[in-house]
Amino acid sequence: MLRRVGPSLRHFLLERKSSAGYSSYSGKAKMSRPVQARRLEGIDKNIWVELVQLAATYSTVDLGQGFPDFPPPDFLTEAAVRALSGENHMLHQYTRAFGHPPLVKVLAQFFGKLLGRDLDPMTNVMVTVGAYQALFYCFQAFIDEGDEVIIIEPFFDCYEPMVKMAGGLPVFVPLRPKAPKDGKLMSSADWQLDPAELASKFSEQTKAIVLNSPNNPLGKVYSRGELELIADLCVKHDVLCISDEVYEWLVYDGKEHIRIASLRGMWDRTVTIGSAGKTFSATGWKVGWTVGPNRLLQHIRTVHQNSVYHCATLAQDAVAQGFQRELELYGKPESYFIQLPTELQKKRDWLVQSLDAVGMKPIVPEGTYFLVADISQFKSDVPDVPDSDEPYDSRFAKWMVKNKGLATIPLSSFYCGAHKNYSHFVRFCFAKEDATLKAANDILQKWKQEKTSP
Ligand code: PMP
Ligand code: GLN
Repeated sequence: MLRRVGPSLRHFLLERKSSAGYSSYSGKAKMSRPVQARRLEGIDKNIWVELVQLAATYSTVDLGQGFPDFPPPDFLTEAAVRALSGENHMLHQYTRAFGHPPLVKVLAQFFGKLLGRDLDPMTNVMVTVGAYQALFYCFQAFIDEGDEVIIIEPFFDCYEPMVKMAGGLPVFVPLRPKAPKDGKLMSSADWQLDPAELASKFSEQTKAIVLNSPNNPLGKVYSRGELELIADLCVKHDVLCISDEVYEWLVYDGKEHIRIASLRGMWDRTVTIGSAGKTFSATGWKVGWTVGPNRLLQHIRTVHQNSVYHCATLAQDAVAQGFQRELELYGKPESYFIQLPTELQKKRDWLVQSLDAVGMKPIVPEGTYFLVADISQFKSDVPDVPDSDEPYDSRFAKWMVKNKGLATIPLSSFYCGAHKNYSHFVRFCFAKEDATLKAANDILQKWKQEKTSP
């Protein structure tokens, strides 16, 4: 900028700067006032930042963070290529703020069919940067200072800091495990809410409950009866439901994923959240959405128009093409929404058997691509850290990635406060190539042999 002004003016400005002593300020110019906003207090640590870094540094086999290591389906990558290099150069420009028209239209058609109601693409659907942003928007749009939000443990960890950033108070209620009969492996269905305990968490201050079915990390798929229990309490206490259904297509053993918005009295009070990342095995695309009544979505649009405003047009266009294909093939064997869970169920069964064989008792998930396993029998392998309050599962996961090269996520990361004592489980992601799962099995088998050989 100084180069543009004439030499004498430049000289004058430089003189002025030094005579005013600007440069001698530099030492003292450090800010001394606290800079961090109060809303960030206590939420600076994040398991993904820490454990993804550890996995990148030490792991040879990464079953930690949830993403597939196999490619998305060809029809999706082909759609992306068409969007990128096709004739419509306007796909490189901004699109409609609340969602690219082809995407909101097909989402409205698809979810309209699933929910059994006519959806208006312009008012009942909004596109976001992944499901993460959809969640963030919900808390910003609906939660005021002091509002309580019920979160069911174990829970996808971001719910808690997002509620706090909005000024809300998270209220936790745990899924409680029941021991399976006849020495069978535990199932995620054995983890249930205690109806009286859940009811006791609803109060005058409760504004919303967060539901995540299929659940990350357990893989629990809520039954109709369990959803009705939650729905009845929402209606009785006039509470909103933020329903995170990003794993909606990943359900096994013929189980049905039931959308809570389809239950009596729930459409009007539910925002359903989805993710193309999980739906089409393309987590890096970061395309998500919210579906719900206009009376709720209008406030989500307000947050969006005053923050991000647009999501990437190309990715939205390709996801729209992907959904268009799936709409045409709905329920048919060629549908990706049928083929992906079929493939994943085989991988689940393989990993269940592999973990069981080494004594890490797996909890068989009904959905998602995660599996939680009991690591109690490995306590003697992991060095004790005297006076440390770090849970055993966290020490175990760090020790295992550093010493065995296998990355996982400790279950205590999905708990808060009082119930953090579920600290003898780790979570494995099985959305992996068979070769990756086999490499994990080799690590575990070798470890078992080392343990048993004299
Ligand atoms: N909810 C749950 C339960 C998740 O596991 C994830 C992680 N993918 C998200 C939301 C965020 O999804 P996205 O990657 O689309 O932002
Ligand atoms: N949802 C994914 C998981 O649970 C990824 C989370 C993340 O990277 N923050 O592993």
